[in-house]
Amino acid sequence: MTDVAIIGAGPYGLSAAAYFRHKGISFRIFGRPMDSWLSHMPKGMVLKSDGFASNIYDPEEAFTLERFCSERGIPYSDATPVSLETFAAYGLAFREQMVPELEDKQVVGLDRSSDGFVLRLDDGETAKAKRVVLAIGITHFQYMPDSLAHLPSELMSHSFRHQNLEGFKARSVVVIGGGASALDLAGLLHESGAEVQLVARRASLKFHSMPTGKPRSLWQQIRHPKSGLGPGLRSRFYANAPGLFYYLPESVRLHVVRTSLGPSGGWFIKEKVVGRVPLLLNCTLLHAEAQGDKVRLHLRTGDGAEREILTQHVIAATGYKVNMERLQFVSTEIRSKVKVLGGSPVLSPQFESSVPGLYFIGVASTNSFGPVMRFAFGAGFAASIVTRAIEKARSKDPAFVPAPRVMSATK
Ligand SMILES: Cc1cc2nc3c(=O)[nH]c(=O)nc-3n(C[C@H](O)[C@H](O)[C@H](O)COP(=O)(O)OP(=O)(O)OC[C@H]3O[C@@H](n4cnc5c(N)ncnc54)[C@H](O)[C@@H]3O)c2cc1C
Repeated sequence: MTDVAIIGAGPYGLSAAAYFRHKGISFRIFGRPMDSWLSHMPKGMVLKSDGFASNIYDPEEAFTLERFCSERGIPYSDATPVSLETFAAYGLAFREQMVPELEDKQVVGLDRSSDGFVLRLDDGETAKAKRVVLAIGITHFQYMPDSLAHLPSELMSHSFRHQNLEGFKARSVVVIGGGASALDLAGLLHESGAEVQLVARRASLKFHSMPTGKPRSLWQQIRHPKSGLGPGLRSRFYANAPGLFYYLPESVRLHVVRTSLGPSGGWFIKEKVVGRVPLLLNCTLLHAEAQGDKVRLHLRTGDGAEREILTQHVIAATGYKVNMERLQFVSTEIRSKVKVLGGSPVLSPQFESSVPGLYFIGVASTNSFGPVMRFAFGAGFAASIVTRAIEKARSKDPAFVPAPRVMSATK
């Protein structure tokens, strides 16, 4: 039996694995590496997070994005936006160098056993682990508004389904949403030759400001410090102090998670959208119905009027909402025992759920540790805390024999 099984091979799962490896914690890690980035984000996308905030973590910081870029001759600076292609390639290289033991398999069942957990894998194997870290990211949590959910999949899809947009060339598409995903998709669909329109409830769209490249005054640096979640004192707190965020009153934490870092696009997408994509802002989607091979959308505009659009496809860029019940591969027994608040697991300061030995890192831990858990930037903190917790729990195990530390594969 292994000490820990990590389920998920995105930035959080890979970071946790690199930490465990370094500390000699025996583990297995399952998942398709960087799957969200390779298969569920649109080709041509550029990351909203700055280069320094787009790392996958190991305790020695031996394989940062900056290092990867310098090895491959890819331009890197704090002001250079990171392409999806670069970040996904970095993730795969990190896997190869820092987490060679990754098994590209899906976990199709997770149950408790008398001494830990049993995982069923998609190749029929059964694996046992004393503890499990769920690093499943956004995979199971696509949020779909009721007004669209009944439409057939050939007419309507969630943004999670789209990587290659070429199939939309010369087709009419409506993107619903006003956040970064919606703006990225609308701009990239337009570039791919689709007749795209964007419908959003927001009265205006927000974009990050383009870095000026000029040195910032001391006052600007104090008042709007740089952080992994963008400039500003609050962002700096959310980015750098998730361990303190945890101790804020629950109502404050939930309010911050709901309202901070609201929907906004990267500065680089503005020119692909504004003046190019027809924008129907201040519009609420009332209902939608299939009409032959098209969809008719009924909207209410800001002045109270009703408007209809007939389109060949609708993409719901409506984000993600954590909901334990969506984790169908997790046994009903475990799901019923994980304490939740509004669908999200309630976690200890060590990311452990109310089921002993079951940890959640990444977006599922946002209500506890704050908005940084929605971004790769939070992965180092999560990995280091879970590693410490597992080392401590392990040292209390009577059968425990300390394993030698493993040096980084790159050193
Ligand atoms: C369009 C878009 C743009 C984004 N841009 C940024 C950005 O610029 N910067 C940023 O930091 N964040 C960005 N994010 C957020 C991003 O999703 C998270 O930062 C990041 O993915 C978190 O890493 P993760 O490891 O938690 O999750 P993920 O990267 O989602 O990885 C989860 C992994 O779990 C695996 N998995 C799930 N279930 C199972 C199972 N049963 N068995 C085996 N494996 C399983 C998946 O296959 C996947 O490999 C963006 C998100 C979206 C949707």
